[in-house]
Amino acid sequence: MLASPALRLVLDGEALAANWRWYQGRAGVPAAAAVKADAYGLGAREVVKRLFAAGCRTFAVSTWAEAEALGRPPGEAAVLVLHGFCGADMPAAATMPWARPVLNTPAQVGAWKAEFPGRPADLMVETGMNRLGVGVHELGLAEGLRLVTVHGHLATADIPDHPMAEVQRVRFVQVAGALPGVAAALANSAGVCRGRQFSFDLVRPGLGLYGGRPHPAAEPRPVVRPEARVLQLRTVAEGEPVGYGAAWVARRPARIATINLGYADGLLRALGPHLRFRAGGRAVPVAGRISMDLIALDVTGAEVGEGDWVALDFDLPQLEAASGVSQYELLALLSRRYARIWS
Ligand SMILES: *Cc1c(COP(=O)(O)O)cnc(C)c1O
Repeated sequence: MLASPALRLVLDGEALAANWRWYQGRAGVPAAAAVKADAYGLGAREVVKRLFAAGCRTFAVSTWAEAEALGRPPGEAAVLVLHGFCGADMPAAATMPWARPVLNTPAQVGAWKAEFPGRPADLMVETGMNRLGVGVHELGLAEGLRLVTVHGHLATADIPDHPMAEVQRVRFVQVAGALPGVAAALANSAGVCRGRQFSFDLVRPGLGLYGGRPHPAAEPRPVVRPEARVLQLRTVAEGEPVGYGAAWVARRPARIATINLGYADGLLRALGPHLRFRAGGRAVPVAGRISMDLIALDVTGAEVGEGDWVALDFDLPQLEAASGVSQYELLALLSRRYARIWS
C-alpha cells in the first residue's frame, strides 16, 4: 500500500502486559485473555504475541474464523473457540490442533464426540445468565469427552452490589465439584475484581487488559490512543454554523479544525458532546455533528496547524459514564482505517 496512514491507533504494549499481570496477580491463578473481535479492536495477533511474552498461555476467540485469522499461537499456547463447534466447523478444526471449542449445547457435545473422539475440548455451563451453555443438570454430557476446562460466565460481575454474581458463583462451585480433575473458570475482568472466591482455576479477562475499567477496584493502565490529522483550519465569525444540520453555531469568533475521523471509525455521533481531543497541548471540544469521516474541533486559542496530529483523550470509563456507550463498544467499534502502532 502506497498511501500513508491517515489515522493511527497508538497502542501501549507495556501497559497491555502490565494490565494482564495485574489480573493474574489479583486472581492468584493463571489468566487467559479474551481476544475475540480482533482483541476488542486492538489487533489480536499483536496482542497475543505480547501477552504470550508476558506469560499468558490461553487465548479466547469467538469463532473458528477468528481462530484461523489468529493463526498458530506461539509455543504451546491454546486457543479457545467460545461459540463452540458444529459440523460445518469440521474442516477448520481439523487444521488447528491447538484450538479447543468451548462446547455450549448437547448437540455441540455430540458433534465434537463424533468428529474428534478423544480430542480435548472445554464445556460452558449455564448458571443463570441464560445465554450460552449446557444446564447444570446436563453434566453427564462430559462423559466420553476429554474435558480440559469447565466454564461459566457472570452476567452482573460489573455491577458491584448486584446479588446475582454470588448466586452464579455458588451454582458454579457445585458444577466444579461435580467434575473432579477438570479445571474450572468463571470470572471475566469484573469477576476477578470481585475477589478470589471468583478465581477457581483460571480466569478470562478481556476488557481490563485493554484499558477498560469494569469495576471500581480495577486500576487499568490506558492502552489505546486514537490519533487523527488536521485537514483544514478556518476561522468562523460569531453566529456562523459548523457542520451538518447547522447544529453548532459560533458564540464568538472561533478557529475550527476539521480532522479526518468520524463515525465510520467508531466515534458514534452520540459521543460528540463528550469527546475531548488534545491539540497544541490543550483539550479541545467537538464543534457540531460528527460526520462519517470528519469531525470539526473548536481549537480557538490552541497552537495547531494543518497536517498536525491531534490525539483523542480516550478515557473509556469517563466516556461510558458521560455517553452511555459502553467501554466494550468504544473499543470494538474502532475501525480498520487506523494504522495500529505498538509502542
Ligand atoms: C468476552 C468474554 C470474556 C471477557 O470478558 P470481559 O468482561 O471483557 O473481561 C470472558 N468470558 C467469556 C465467555 C467471554 O465471552
